[in-house]
Amino acid sequence: MVKKSLMRLHNLLNLEIQTGRRENAFIGGVLAFRDRWLVDARADAVHPSLVQEIAGLLMLYADATTDEREHLLRTLLGLLDGPPQSDLALANIDRIGAAAELARVAPPIDAPPLDAPAPQMRVGTARAEPLPSLQANLTQPLTVLKGVGAKKAEQYARLGIKTIGDLIWHLPRRYDDFSRVRVIADVEEGERISVVANLGRFSERKFGYKKQMVQAIFNDGSGTLRASWWNQPWIKDRLEIGKTYRLSGTVGLYMGYKTLEKPIFEEIVPSDIKDGPILPIYGLTDGLRNSDVSKHVEQALTLGLAAIGDGLPQEVRQRYNLTNLPNALRQLHRPQTPEQLHAAQQRIAFNEFFYIQLGVQRRRREIQDLHAAEMIAGDEWLAAYQAGLPFILTAAQQRVLAEIRRDLALSVPMSRLMQGDVGSGKTAVAAGAMLIAAANGYQSALLAPTQILAEQHFRGLSKLLEGVPLAANSPLEITLLTGRMSGRERAESLAALSEGRMQIAVGTTALIQEGVAFHNLGFVVVDEQHRFGVEQRAALRDKSADSTVPHLLVMSATPIPRSLAMTIYGDLDVSVLDEMPPGRMPVKTKRFLPNERERLYAFLKRQVQKGRQGYIIYPLVEESELLEGGAAVDAHARLSQEVFPDLRLGLLHGRLQGSEKDQVMRAFAGGELDVLISTSVVEVGVDVPNATVMLIEDAERFGLAQLHQFRGRVGRGEYESYCALISQTQGSGSAERLNALVETTDGFKLAEKDLELRGPGDFLGTRQSGLPDLKMASLSDTSTLALVQQAARELLDENPDLSDYPQLGTELERFWRGHGDVS
Ligand code: ADP
Ligand code: MG
Repeated sequence: MVKKSLMRLHNLLNLEIQTGRRENAFIGGVLAFRDRWLVDARADAVHPSLVQEIAGLLMLYADATTDEREHLLRTLLGLLDGPPQSDLALANIDRIGAAAELARVAPPIDAPPLDAPAPQMRVGTARAEPLPSLQANLTQPLTVLKGVGAKKAEQYARLGIKTIGDLIWHLPRRYDDFSRVRVIADVEEGERISVVANLGRFSERKFGYKKQMVQAIFNDGSGTLRASWWNQPWIKDRLEIGKTYRLSGTVGLYMGYKTLEKPIFEEIVPSDIKDGPILPIYGLTDGLRNSDVSKHVEQALTLGLAAIGDGLPQEVRQRYNLTNLPNALRQLHRPQTPEQLHAAQQRIAFNEFFYIQLGVQRRRREIQDLHAAEMIAGDEWLAAYQAGLPFILTAAQQRVLAEIRRDLALSVPMSRLMQGDVGSGKTAVAAGAMLIAAANGYQSALLAPTQILAEQHFRGLSKLLEGVPLAANSPLEITLLTGRMSGRERAESLAALSEGRMQIAVGTTALIQEGVAFHNLGFVVVDEQHRFGVEQRAALRDKSADSTVPHLLVMSATPIPRSLAMTIYGDLDVSVLDEMPPGRMPVKTKRFLPNERERLYAFLKRQVQKGRQGYIIYPLVEESELLEGGAAVDAHARLSQEVFPDLRLGLLHGRLQGSEKDQVMRAFAGGELDVLISTSVVEVGVDVPNATVMLIEDAERFGLAQLHQFRGRVGRGEYESYCALISQTQGSGSAERLNALVETTDGFKLAEKDLELRGPGDFLGTRQSGLPDLKMASLSDTSTLALVQQAARELLDENPDLSDYPQLGTELERFWRGHGDVS
């Protein structure tokens, strides 16, 4: 059935164009028409968001200039376009967009060649909901594209691209701006440059027994350049005489020749350059060339762009001055000017933030609808707790404890993140909170990521709470529950928990596995949050006996800048322990060159002779080494024989099983090993107060946050401690990082710096952050983040379940897929 209201509007709009855009078509003026039309459209059951969008545009029309009116009319007609709703419509509406038409009929396997006149695409209309028949296009297999057969489809599949829609969302990895490519004749020694040049000749030379060099001469018409690669014989397989390459590197001079040593290079198809000054560079796989992808994307856009729609409500787009999604996608694939490209990137960045914010804010709202037990603790309780502790709580500890105390007293479940640098005393705060729960008759659970950390927490808590009286009369009972326990021990602990004889349970995720029943779990503490997923948190909530859920406190020693915390933990309130207990000696940190290693080894030996212990950390050079242990394994073999034959060395790397790792860590913690050689797997929270030396090899390969964590392994006891950053690097970026570490021990300052220098992916590692990949958004862009947070809040206030925005719901789901549940 045709929607009469839409048809009438369509005819009137055409009439308005013919009569010179003076509101003549609308009897009584456009606003009066709008009011009448709204009634009709509702009666016609036109989709509410379409109605809303049209109504908004009609309103603007009243005040618009003639030029603006032309644009508005086009936009309105664009909205009305789309696949016909019946044959009758086809007869009456002659302006069905060709793209829509094209979309309606399944395209033949051999789509029209690219150079045939492209069907008139209409993008940039403000369509809120693409119609279902159009959307079917997005799920078509890639083989409908010209030039994509089974083989290419298989190559795309390796990149996770299977449908037209996937390909449209396969956004360029980066762009080559050919307006910035340099001419060889103009470049000077020391400059970092990119040039585009042809390969004239190349040769491979051997020097002595081991060394080998590939040398190549490139020419761009203005001059020649010699590129060389040492000990990378495979380079020659990627070179072909006569082809064009883009080369990037630092210009050197050698016997009067301009040189590039070890340049990054990539073959370029000359037609790429003709396309325009900004060339998108896609993520590729074997057999797939950038120019192929460009061509296929072009076809995919023609076929599917009109179906993309825009989930971002128009009010939001207008308020924040954002281009629409189809436009943005087109610009990202076929950028015309740097400004337009930038606007498109902004739009996608906004989307990514928006999805994240909607996800976390919805989760937060859901939590707030749940109920938790109210746990009250008076001031006298706090005084008693303090009196029982072996030290005075720092002001920061008192402040955070007060925040937690306030939360626990409410029936809204607490969801709080407590951030504090290594050694800032998070345990004492968490313990205080667990005591409040116990005093109110509720059980608490403390979850640690590994057994060894669980055991450490158990010991620490037991010791800390020794002198602390429980406000209620009964003595406090703490139990440890890990996979290492024998069947009988375990059964006993389980029984004690389910009968309520134990107030505090410490354990690993085993605690939330089935079979563990609590008598009345009221409070949960999770240590090192980033290893616990959303699902695990949800499982914990299910552990609660009655209709209430436990209060949740998450502890993290990874200092996270506010912007990031807001994003990742948007569903949590944040407390910060920004003060160290008094008397802590800062770890002496210094940079060293690799040739100073012997001195450092001698120093380490002397420390061991004094009874201390140390760590030596090696980076993984390649991803594959995760499986092998890489440099650490070789170093362990060499150091134990040649350098420290009389010391006890331990080795820790990713190939070890969890239990083997625990064994090594235990031996080190127990003083049975002098030096621990490790890849970055060394446990974040492990506490060995006797360790005083931390040597980090190739330090520039680690992120600041990670280096800071390594450093936090030492300086935990009464002894002066040292951290040596061994690095050859002269690169300005990495030097800046290492210097920052030397200059400050403040984890938050370092985290800010790291985020600024390296971006969020590197900062946390995508795996750890629990965030979907961000293609465009930069988490250091706090101003956009703040805007988006606001926008998401407004939208959810108005429409909490987003039911008015079905497309947004779909996009949200797509974005979060595989990253925990946001529903
Ligand atoms: P975090 O878990 O934040 O790294 P911990 O809670 O393990 O730190 O505390 C580190 C050490 O500092 C522990 O030995 C603890 O007993 C001690 N400590 C905690 N708070 C204080 C304080 N206010 N004054 C002195 N020592 C403290
Ligand atoms: Mg700790």
